[in-house]
Amino acid sequence: MGGDLYALDFDGVLCDSCGESSLSAVKAAKIRWPSIFNEVDAALEQWIVDQMHILRPVVETGYENLLLVRLLLELRIPSIRKSSVSAGLTVDGILENWLELKPVILKEWVEDRDCLIDLFGRVRDEWIEHEFSGWIGANRFYPGVAEALKFSSSTIYISRFADALLRELAGVIIPSDRIYGLGTGPKVKVLKQLQGRPEHQGLRFHFVEDRLATLKNVIKEPELDGWNLYLGKWGYNTEKERQEAEGITRIHLLDLPDFSMKLK
Ligand SMILES: [Mg+2]
Repeated sequence: MGGDLYALDFDGVLCDSCGESSLSAVKAAKIRWPSIFNEVDAALEQWIVDQMHILRPVVETGYENLLLVRLLLELRIPSIRKSSVSAGLTVDGILENWLELKPVILKEWVEDRDCLIDLFGRVRDEWIEHEFSGWIGANRFYPGVAEALKFSSSTIYISRFADALLRELAGVIIPSDRIYGLGTGPKVKVLKQLQGRPEHQGLRFHFVEDRLATLKNVIKEPELDGWNLYLGKWGYNTEKERQEAEGITRIHLLDLPDFSMKLK
């Protein structure tokens, strides 16, 4: 009795998929806006991907990557601007004001959210289907994470998607009964299910996540008061969010090396 159970978020905690999502977005942007993206060479594409690492914390839904890559291109090449939205805008400005900018650019560019969601999903699926190894290679595990999972003595739960990548990229196999399906709903629901299982009674519960909003949702649930909550500083969150998290007593801020140590 008295062991530890870890529920681990995937993207931004175990794996950095920002390269993958940014390249998927550039592929989709070439289809949606060929006249604008025709001029993008390899160097410019790399610049876009680099900036996307800074902007990744604002992305909630995949299609937003598509909006961001076009906006970045408009910052870089003023002559392609189709509206005044990007005039005077900087990468930091996008980071600060994305929630307000998003509806404005959809309107100014006359784009439909659902169509972009559909296109982004289709492009990614085709990439996985036709060039699986290239797609896999665009994802990476954060340093030390795969080894820590492999040798961990704690009970660990990861998503089905994380399991597939762990096997492909790092040769690490997690027992299938310790994998939670992505289809099982929001994190709050998954945590309730995990703590309710008879075999988990007496364990200490830990949840590691990189999205502050998700941790705040957990805090709102009195039923989940027994969970230790961690915000992974290496993931997709901003300095401002990390500062906010420091003021929330339930949340512990975690560095990557400390995370790997904890799992062991
Ligand atoms: Mg995440």
